[in-house]
Amino acid sequence: MRILLIEDDQLIGDGLKTGLEKMGFAVDWFQNGAEGCEALLLIPYDAAVLDLGLPDRDGLSVLKEWRQKGRKEPVLILTARGDVDNRIIGLDSGADDYLPKPFALKEVIARLKALIRRRNDQLEPMIRCQDITFNPNTKEVLKNNSLVELTPKEIFVLELLLSRRNQVFSRELLEEKLYAFGNEVQSNAVEVHIHHLRKKLGKDLIKTVPKIGYMIQS
Ligand code: CA
Repeated sequence: MRILLIEDDQLIGDGLKTGLEKMGFAVDWFQNGAEGCEALLLIPYDAAVLDLGLPDRDGLSVLKEWRQKGRKEPVLILTARGDVDNRIIGLDSGADDYLPKPFALKEVIARLKALIRRRNDQLEPMIRCQDITFNPNTKEVLKNNSLVELTPKEIFVLELLLSRRNQVFSRELLEEKLYAFGNEVQSNAVEVHIHHLRKKLGKDLIKTVPKIGYMIQS
């Protein structure tokens, strides 16, 4: 199980990383919000441990950004701000659990395991279409059972088309959704992503509907 740890405190971060690794977790540790955010948007994690007081940005804004972008990884918040109001704000922002500092390592591990278990119980089923299998939880794409490497934006476009098969998406709508997903969108971005998806997944998966847009048929 792979855990994203965002904690700027050297001692706490080091202790958590070492302790979690001893328990068999793989841990990617970042000491600021920007790097942690970037990692979460690129890598499918089983859970994240997030400190609220970070040097570059507030942990709550990091969490809100993930949830706005549709990321559903379970998040355990660690914070010195252990009072009730902050606890409610954290949970309202999309945190799954909350642990005030100081905490015992075994409590972090117990809570992480509970979060991961709960999430696994709610997993969405795989989407299968032609020779493609898409895992909505890990964002992994298989073609004939072999893993295909896609960029986050390619995955985003593919997931959108796969989740509403037989619906035609106009270029403008896809562009708008990509824009909401993050970053500037080049004027030909949609065509470029579709082109790459066809190269990687086969030319027949995504159909062009002339003068309207793109679709995947079920
Ligand atoms: Ca901190």
